[in-house]
Amino acid sequence: MTDTIDRDALRAKYREERDKRIRPDGNEQYLQPTGRFAHLLDDPYTPRVERDPVTDEVEVVIIGGGFSGLTTGARLKQAGITDVRIVEGGGDVGGAWYWNRYPGAMCDTAAMVYLPLLEETGHMPSTKYVFAPEIFAHARRIATHFGLYEGALFSTQVSKLEWDDADARWIVHTDRGDAIRARFVSMGTGPLHRPKLPGIPGIESFEGPCFHTSRWDYGLTGGDPEGAPMTKLAGKRVGIVGTGATAVQCIPALSRDAGELFVVQRTPSSIDVRNNHPIDPEWFASLGPGWQQRWLTNFATLQTGGFADEDLVHDGWTDISQRIRDRVVKMLGEGATFGPEAMLKAYEESDDEKMEEIRARVDAVVRDPGTAAALKPWYRQLCKRPCFHDEYLQAYNNPNTHLVDTDGKGVERIDATGVWVNGTHVELDLIIFASGFEVGTPAARRSGFETYGRDGVSLSEAWDEGMQSLHGMHVHGFPNLFVVGPSQGSNLISNITQNLTEAGTTIATILCHAHDVGATRVEVTPEAQSAWVQLLEGSVRAFIGNPECTPGYYNNEGGPITRKQRLNGSGYPEGPVAFWQYLDRWRTDGEFRGLTFT
Ligand code: NDP
Repeated sequence: MTDTIDRDALRAKYREERDKRIRPDGNEQYLQPTGRFAHLLDDPYTPRVERDPVTDEVEVVIIGGGFSGLTTGARLKQAGITDVRIVEGGGDVGGAWYWNRYPGAMCDTAAMVYLPLLEETGHMPSTKYVFAPEIFAHARRIATHFGLYEGALFSTQVSKLEWDDADARWIVHTDRGDAIRARFVSMGTGPLHRPKLPGIPGIESFEGPCFHTSRWDYGLTGGDPEGAPMTKLAGKRVGIVGTGATAVQCIPALSRDAGELFVVQRTPSSIDVRNNHPIDPEWFASLGPGWQQRWLTNFATLQTGGFADEDLVHDGWTDISQRIRDRVVKMLGEGATFGPEAMLKAYEESDDEKMEEIRARVDAVVRDPGTAAALKPWYRQLCKRPCFHDEYLQAYNNPNTHLVDTDGKGVERIDATGVWVNGTHVELDLIIFASGFEVGTPAARRSGFETYGRDGVSLSEAWDEGMQSLHGMHVHGFPNLFVVGPSQGSNLISNITQNLTEAGTTIATILCHAHDVGATRVEVTPEAQSAWVQLLEGSVRAFIGNPECTPGYYNNEGGPITRKQRLNGSGYPEGPVAFWQYLDRWRTDGEFRGLTFT
């Protein structure tokens, strides 16, 4: 197939499609939910119960009860550190999986590697890819299994985090008036819980109901997260704005239940096959102790260009990497010299081949040629979050489902009764915004609070010119604080939970060491921090942040990729597997190089 591709024409088409979408306002185009939309930050699932402020002291406060907080909490409890309190804005644990209950929500990463601590909790995923209710239930399972509900504060939004240097304690302020003192704080606030809205002129003027996918209003639509029919949508004209990973998952259910569905598209997603299937209990029981770590390492290795005897997960994430590797091997066999050029060529050719297949699949599935043409993505696969679905494209064959393609321009404006696209008014009874989350915006805007370290310096100030850390976790001037996330560490985006579980292990190991040596302060030295940042600066990922990509949160919405952007998205130069091997040595040699324990 590769030989038939006219690469120059393809590149020109990619550029043309990208240029249509570049906007001078970049990230600024999005709105925070305020005013009429302030309720979008509310919790529709758990009623808020008034309580007295908490002003006690605990050993560790974990901010965020998603998989970051849960894996950290689990590792701490396993290590015998029991005085742990989760503080969480939602009414339960689960994080992104607490908030995202839209119909059809599921994880695109195979459950065998995505769901953390499967062996520890004895859970067998029902299918290769699992739906949101099962993921949420697993989050609750971890919390129950490791006693993390004890002392947890839910429906509690941290408003400020402040270091008291004299007392060597963090003070965690919340919207409940709490002022909890904590020796250590682990911060796992993640990027996918704070919704953003498209900055469409007139958005406030729509007189019908509207909501964001992460606050699905089943009262309005009927149905439930398990997939029961949304009976209240019968006869309704429903509009959904956005065609990212979220929209792709809920559009089939909307197509099934709405009277008429209008999908407003700015950029089509790439939709690869899903091929979901049940997990066989007998096979699962035969995997043997330590299986999950083997699977995790295998997936991370294959997904990031390494070699392994077999592909255990074998899905769309490992497929592209396999193709690249096979190509490199073939090119070397044909006499090419191994190096960055050969890798880039193999990458480009594999990507072109993959995207041609994805575009051909649209033609094979979607019957109306005009709709099929508009659903084809014209960019390299990793420019945007790849999607995998076996019912999304098919939905456009339903007579009630209409693709409203904006040719890269987005919705022109919204008025009292609907949306305007390409000069045409589409009347709607309900608008659903599948417009994503605060990802590329400043840390304080994303987390909803500011962190003040020694001398009152805020984390936003400390990171004004880009993230500065050791291992993505330790920040000079912010003692006893552990930042949990993929950046400046392994940066494995396809399986975010592996980053989190490893981080939990690191935090537990450090706290045990602090106890052993009687230390009350743990802090990274400025030298170790700048050495780490320097190491990372030499490594720029080929795709995340690629200005040639169509705009999205992977590349700062097509805006300039500054040093700051690169730092915020950087990872260990030799990749995730090498990072974890390095980290394992760092944790176990007992020296904790770069940290001071005083
Ligand atoms: P995204 O940010 O990926 O998508 C937002 C959508 O809204 C895009 O299609 C965007 O178009 C569109 N949009 C924004 N502004 C306008 C406008 N003015 N007019 C029309 N359309 C507009 O958000 P999602 O919620 O889909 O996904 C967020 C992330 O959540 C994913 O990238 C993924 O990491 C994660 N996720 C993971 C899943 C999993 O399986 N693990 C499942 C679902 C989500 P454009 O593309 O042109 O910007």
